Amino acid sequence: MTSNWTRHAIFLSWFTIGYNLVEGAVSITFGVDDESVALAGFGIDSLIEVASAALVLWRFRVHDVSRERKATLSIGILFLLLALVTAIASIFQLQTGAHPATTVPGLAISAASLSFMFWLWSAKRGVARQLNSASMMKDATCSLVCIQLSLVLFVGSLTFALIPSLWWIDSAAALVIAALIGKEGWATVRSTQHPEFSGGCT
Ligand SMILES: [Zn+2]
Repeated sequence: MTSNWTRHAIFLSWFTIGYNLVEGAVSITFGVDDESVALAGFGIDSLIEVASAALVLWRFRVHDVSRERKATLSIGILFLLLALVTAIASIFQLQTGAHPATTVPGLAISAASLSFMFWLWSAKRGVARQLNSASMMKDATCSLVCIQLSLVLFVGSLTFALIPSLWWIDSAAALVIAALIGKEGWATVRSTQHPEFSGGCT
């Protein structure tokens, strides 16, 4: 017998997966096309959110902590690698003086994300409290990280759109994004070493 709150949690997780698959695909496509490292890095984070929500769904079906620990550890290591790639790409972009042709897609995507994520974040926290679910609460933290990244991307994209002479702003935003993803990856890896492991973002 599944309770209403569990059904709500499952709905929020599927919504997160669907929304972030689209956000990730659009961000990475435009980021690569326009050579915006910040936008591509933001897209990478969307895939992190997909993985985190998938873990929550999995947890509702299977209660195998050792398998979940292994899956979470692999995801954490993957995030660290992706943060490293984003950081290297932004440093390379800074050194070569390269910059995106336009940051309008980044502006649109981050604005869309901001309008959804506050709702998603508070809905997840509410459900997590009702279900007393640590993994759902940690997944809500992923949405909070997304809000932070959206703000960085929004401010960076807007600044470049208004003042194109600040060519380095996209690389700077990408470095901040890489640092936030790296922090999230490191916290994820560390959480798997914790005796009261409960999965997801930390
Ligand atoms: Zn996101």
